[in-house]
Amino acid sequence: MSTRVLVIGGGLAGLLAARRQQRAGHHVVLLEASGTVGGAIADAALPDAGGFTLNTGAEAYATASGAVDALIAELGLEQRIVAPREGLGSRVVSDAGVHRAPGASMLGIPSRPLAADVRAVLGTAGALRARLERFLPASYGTRPGATVAEVVRRRLGRTVLERLVAPVVGGVHSADPATLEFATASPALSRGLAEHGSLTAAVRRLRGRSTASAGSAGTLVHSLTPTMAVLPEALQAQILAAGGILRSGVDVIGVEQTGTEHDGPAWRIRTSRQEELTADHLVLACPPDTAHDLLREAVPSVARAIPQAPSAALRLVALVLDAPALDPHPCGTGALVAPGTAGIRAKALTHGSAKWDHVQQALREALPAAGSPHLLRLSYGRPGEQLPTHEEIVDLALADASRILGTPLSRTQLLASEVIDWDRAMRQALPGHRAALDTLTGLLAQQPSLELVGSWRAGTGIDAIVRADDTHSEGTSS
Ligand SMILES: Cc1cc2nc3c(=O)[nH]c(=O)nc-3n(C[C@H](O)[C@H](O)[C@H](O)COP(=O)(O)OP(=O)(O)OC[C@H]3O[C@@H](n4cnc5c(N)ncnc54)[C@H](O)[C@@H]3O)c2cc1C
Repeated sequence: MSTRVLVIGGGLAGLLAARRQQRAGHHVVLLEASGTVGGAIADAALPDAGGFTLNTGAEAYATASGAVDALIAELGLEQRIVAPREGLGSRVVSDAGVHRAPGASMLGIPSRPLAADVRAVLGTAGALRARLERFLPASYGTRPGATVAEVVRRRLGRTVLERLVAPVVGGVHSADPATLEFATASPALSRGLAEHGSLTAAVRRLRGRSTASAGSAGTLVHSLTPTMAVLPEALQAQILAAGGILRSGVDVIGVEQTGTEHDGPAWRIRTSRQEELTADHLVLACPPDTAHDLLREAVPSVARAIPQAPSAALRLVALVLDAPALDPHPCGTGALVAPGTAGIRAKALTHGSAKWDHVQQALREALPAAGSPHLLRLSYGRPGEQLPTHEEIVDLALADASRILGTPLSRTQLLASEVIDWDRAMRQALPGHRAALDTLTGLLAQQPSLELVGSWRAGTGIDAIVRADDTHSEGTSS
């Protein structure tokens, strides 16, 4: 007899779990609180830019593991895969200036501290200090639960931390290196350090494995045309075609454990629409604080073990400009900004129309009268920092973009803008996160009818979530 599975949350992790459960022969109902599935993979059309549609959340996925490309091929979407324009590279911005981001690095950690592109950012003294890392014992600076700041400062020096690692941790993980756990930020580097004796050696090994040319920073990604939202849409279509039920606009507000998988439905849930639904198997694919609240009374031991990763509120602003000065792509694909850089509040800038050919083409089609249409996306919201207001953010972004790109940009060139808020999507893994996840995994082994999935468990990013789901599939198929 097939099991009835309820999945709570229709982000990527929930959609993949629903599909996996269906493939195992179960009847699946997925409930999503917002109006659409996809969670942090979303898009929006800009009426002022002729309906041009942009990614409002994730805009690309890491290709090193091959897991997402494989999923996309399985969904029959290979034709939609696009790669960034070659040779542009990205930039890192700090008080030391705007520099090309060193190639072959991970989490901002360079593989070769004395390479010319690394020395340009760090200066000779900073580069020599980083080079000393190879002589340190592998255990140096790496106590369990150590933060990114601790490990990097002690092993590679302050300049690597401030100019290379902090911009990546702030821009990509929306976190502060002083509070982000190293082992969670990069489990591969954490293991690699123990295996290869130094972080730089670990980066060389890991990067060497993922690409023959060791690629320039920011190029080891793919995206989908017209937007990444194609991925959740395809998963949704597949789930529906296989007889699953997807309901949006349904907030789950209560969970009760009513039995075990052997004696009737194990779970009963309550929704914001005053409904009660039962299930034999429950998958919580919502943020960790929601999962905690839902399980607090139902399974207190599991609820207590869910590590509380605080969310970092993010405010993005997309600018569509008619700006010929941007045609030569002055910052390559974009830039990550070191915290505290004088005169710049943005933490990252993506030059979408430089990075992606399909974006430039779509802009030209949507805005045929514009001579040089460009898309810039800037993000704001470092941990502990006040977000710019909706009123000030467009002018602030124009000023920040002018400084980063080294060319004046003004409202006279602005064709459209869109402000996007993400309040709960990015989680900061505090020290102890990895150990807490191990404890949680142990407890969940005693609750076979309960599953907890999501980026707070798998790691930030599309690739981490797909790999975690692949691991689950291997577990269930064996
Ligand atoms: C601005 C931004 C840019 C990003 N860029 C990239 C990128 O370029 N590349 C990359 O790999 N990753 C990127 N990420 C990260 C990546 O998008 C996320 O790690 C991933 O999409 C998270 O998926 P998830 O399913 O774990 O969570 P979510 O996408 O957050 O999904 C959780 C879902 O649960 C629903 N939910 C919550 N509570 C309830 C409830 N009580 N009842 C029912 N439903 C509920 C929510 O509405 C949501 O849809 C970015 C994230 C953001 C915010």
